[in-house]
Amino acid sequence: MIDIKNPLGVHALVWVGGTTPQDIGEAVDKTKAAGFDLLELSLHDAVDLDTADARRRLSEAGLAVSASRGLTLDADISSEDTAIVTRGEELLYESLKLVDELGGQILTGALYSAFGKASAPLTAGGRRNIVSVLRTFAKEASHRRMTLGLEVCNRYETNVINTAADALRLADDIGEDNVVIHLDSYHMNIEEADLVRPVRLLGDRLGYVHIGENHRGYIGSGHLDFGAFFHALADIDYAGPITFESFSSAVVSPGLSNDLAIWRNLWDDGVDLATHALRYISDGIHAAQHR
Ligand code: MN
Repeated sequence: MIDIKNPLGVHALVWVGGTTPQDIGEAVDKTKAAGFDLLELSLHDAVDLDTADARRRLSEAGLAVSASRGLTLDADISSEDTAIVTRGEELLYESLKLVDELGGQILTGALYSAFGKASAPLTAGGRRNIVSVLRTFAKEASHRRMTLGLEVCNRYETNVINTAADALRLADDIGEDNVVIHLDSYHMNIEEADLVRPVRLLGDRLGYVHIGENHRGYIGSGHLDFGAFFHALADIDYAGPITFESFSSAVVSPGLSNDLAIWRNLWDDGVDLATHALRYISDGIHAAQHR
């Protein structure tokens, strides 16, 4: 990870939907040109990912990298079906290996369940499976000097953790120091009372942040109170990555776009979207240091 306060990142789906060397090359070049410090790759559709090639391109551009993902319905550690849990566990270890090969130190997202609307609450047995798998998995990540993020997602994407308070309880049960909480303003808008209290509740347990508008489109065009969010991050002296996440039907990743219900065109010009977002976030973070 780049040794600076609040490395600012961008999700690759702002640029490209695929992970071929050509796609990664384009994502790296555009991330660098826009002025970001970090590129976040989704591992959902990473079948074409050449990690050695990507690592070389990232390193030449001087960019840090992180990766995110959710699990899948047939590979889900929140299940009570042993075969499905085992496949979920395998998917996690494969993902960790990819991030390590990329030279990244953070794997985050819905590492605890499949993306998608659950039709019933999480069961006690399913929760025990999550805790057991993630405790062992966190130890493996620790051996590789890597950090795991638990992204707090809204009720339509998971039944495991919908609020910062849920995430703290889960992280406490896992009980490993390299498991941090990941907040996303888009999900917070749906589930939390506001954008301030969850940040204060987490304090130094907050380890990763996604910035997204209420509709996941052009930042500043929606109704989220980013001023209050940036104040809260400054109040807890948050120093971790802040990554801009936005999705439009203009750039499609076959698996992830469908999992996230990206049906609408919210922007066409990823370059304008991302350069504006970097200015917006960087100005907001800077202003929040002043009282
Ligand atoms: Mn997110």
